[in-house]
Amino acid sequence: PVAEDAPQLPPTSPLWVIKPVSGAGNGVFALQHLPDSTALLSTSFVPMYTINREYRREVCGYCFLYDDGKNLRIRNSLAGFSFCSLTCQNAWNLENGLTRTVVWEPLETYIKKRHGKSAELDELPNADDRRPSPLEISNAWEECSTKLALVRPGIFPPCKDARGARHAISKTTVHPDTLSFLASGHHALSGNGLTSFPPTPLETSLRHLAQSQAAYPSAHDLALHTIAHLQLAMLLNLSSLTTRNDSTQLSHTLTAVAACNAFGLRPPVAQDPDRSEYFGWGLWPEASFFNHSCEPNVAKERVGREWRFWAAREVRQGEELCISYLGGEEGEMTREERQGRLKVEWGFECCCARCE
Ligand SMILES: [Zn+2]
Ligand SMILES: [Zn+2]
Repeated sequence: PVAEDAPQLPPTSPLWVIKPVSGAGNGVFALQHLPDSTALLSTSFVPMYTINREYRREVCGYCFLYDDGKNLRIRNSLAGFSFCSLTCQNAWNLENGLTRTVVWEPLETYIKKRHGKSAELDELPNADDRRPSPLEISNAWEECSTKLALVRPGIFPPCKDARGARHAISKTTVHPDTLSFLASGHHALSGNGLTSFPPTPLETSLRHLAQSQAAYPSAHDLALHTIAHLQLAMLLNLSSLTTRNDSTQLSHTLTAVAACNAFGLRPPVAQDPDRSEYFGWGLWPEASFFNHSCEPNVAKERVGREWRFWAAREVRQGEELCISYLGGEEGEMTREERQGRLKVEWGFECCCARCE
């Protein structure tokens, strides 16, 4: 069965329509004149998310509440999540109850063993490193797929090559947030442990979302993602990782989709006016159709798991509805600063009205 909160994709509305934009995939366009503050969309379907390791005690694992850096009172230390209330813990258990012992608990044990309690890894990209090309990316995942055939659990007897390959994969240190990110995706692709026949809601979503052709800031980052995939396949007994032949392709797709559709998890602006906290990110498939503009006509706010979007000013019929990918900081930034950030973080050159 498909989860009840699974969205219809692409989403529809009497107020706007999704249609192709030249050179930029799809965009959202107003079907009529929209007065300032018109509510446009709200969505709480978030099949995949990561809370960064250093925030796991401070950010609720279900509703993403952040109480100014205070540790939350309810903690599931076996799975490595904290919760703001029993309601959130119960909701998380409902979503993960059947699979937490096959996903989050083994992963948490593995990460603790590898990284100790405070995993402080420096992940500064090498300055001369460049983004790998689409061909280099598909070659790396192809090679990963060949390796997976060697190390996949259940291949007996493990030959000498397999033992060598397993050893090489295990000894590489991968950032715990990369492991959690891929685990979260495969968890959702496996149907969250429910007897869900493919496609799961996340898998359906992936078909509709744009994919980045340059999802990795460096060759090193690409290599770490493929190794993370192999480590998880050796560690977790998830159908999407262990029995599907296209599991490597799925990891590839998850990263490409996340690179251009993820929403950052931050505290409300009122709580963090300098925008200094960034505690993870999530994929809200229904909210992924808005393009970026440096003078957006759509405002957005996250309340718990729900993202809400509304007209930030009057919008003409036929106008494209855009949000800002710069988290509200675009107002103060120069053209060069905006172009630089969008290029580094999202991999595109902005040609919005303000930039042109
Ligand atoms: Zn909560
Ligand atoms: Zn712009």
